Amino acid sequence: MTIWTLGSINIDHVYRLPHLPQPGETLAALDYSTGLGGKGANQSVAAARAGARVRLIGAIGPDGGQVLARLVALGVDCAAVARMQTATGHAIILLDAASENAIVIHPGANRAIAPQAAVAALDAAVPGDTLLLQNETSAQAETAEAAAIRGLRVVYSAAPFELAAVRAVLPHVTTLALNAVEAGQLTAALGCELSDLPVAEVLVTHGAEGADWHDLGAGRVIYQPAFAVSPVDTTGAGDTFAGYFAAARDQGFGPAAALRLAAGAAALKVTRAGAAEAIPARAEVEAFLE
Ligand code: ATP
Repeated sequence: MTIWTLGSINIDHVYRLPHLPQPGETLAALDYSTGLGGKGANQSVAAARAGARVRLIGAIGPDGGQVLARLVALGVDCAAVARMQTATGHAIILLDAASENAIVIHPGANRAIAPQAAVAALDAAVPGDTLLLQNETSAQAETAEAAAIRGLRVVYSAAPFELAAVRAVLPHVTTLALNAVEAGQLTAALGCELSDLPVAEVLVTHGAEGADWHDLGAGRVIYQPAFAVSPVDTTGAGDTFAGYFAAARDQGFGPAAALRLAAGAAALKVTRAGAAEAIPARAEVEAFLE
């Protein structure tokens, strides 16, 4: 089957600094690099590295040629990525010596995706395919609704947390994926328990404490511990987990096996610096889990 992702594509600009700047301070960076990022790109790459067929619905500007080429090289079908005159989304990532970060995101083209174009891209989808989406684009609610009507499984990573977006998308969701902070924000904002949410499944990740998957209909919970590793960079751990989990389910894995594969992939990711480019391939994850 196919995993359709409606997702953000960013150019990450990463600056290593002696310390994070104070208001009014000017600092020379010790090091600078650029890379492919954005939650949509990360999750798309994770699903593709897991072996799924992935088609990304997104948008870039005139400056997006290089990140698009990287996505394609990492196995993501980008035929449904629109070219716009608006700048490609980008992130300014400041890292201090202890890898503490401060991040500014300019959504750019990611927030200029037209709902009609995103929905039209799903014309080629068939029942049983998956739509994977997050909150860094426009057009989430319309695309999720169209996907649900077409019989797709809708996996929604409600990050960054935004209540209006969550309310609009939630009625169309099969699997809601949250980190522990987002789970707290969501239940506090809606004034309910996770088990009251109107979705079939909830996946909650807890960083080095692992993850749990809830089948709300059956009242069943599966806990997956994290694998012990020495973390280097946790950026994209949640995206790696979500993309691998969606891909494994698409390939017919049950939830327990999908959780284990996703936890293995996310553990390997945190041992490597970078976002999309640092997501491990399926064979590496299987070797790690042996
Ligand atoms: P991010 O925003 O950095 O992408 P997140 O907050 O969405 O991450 P987390 O809950 O931090 O996601 O992590 C997702 C999964 O990644 C965890 O459930 C776990 O399997 C794995 N993971 C994260 N941190 C570690 C770690 N230090 N060691 C091993 N596995 C980890």
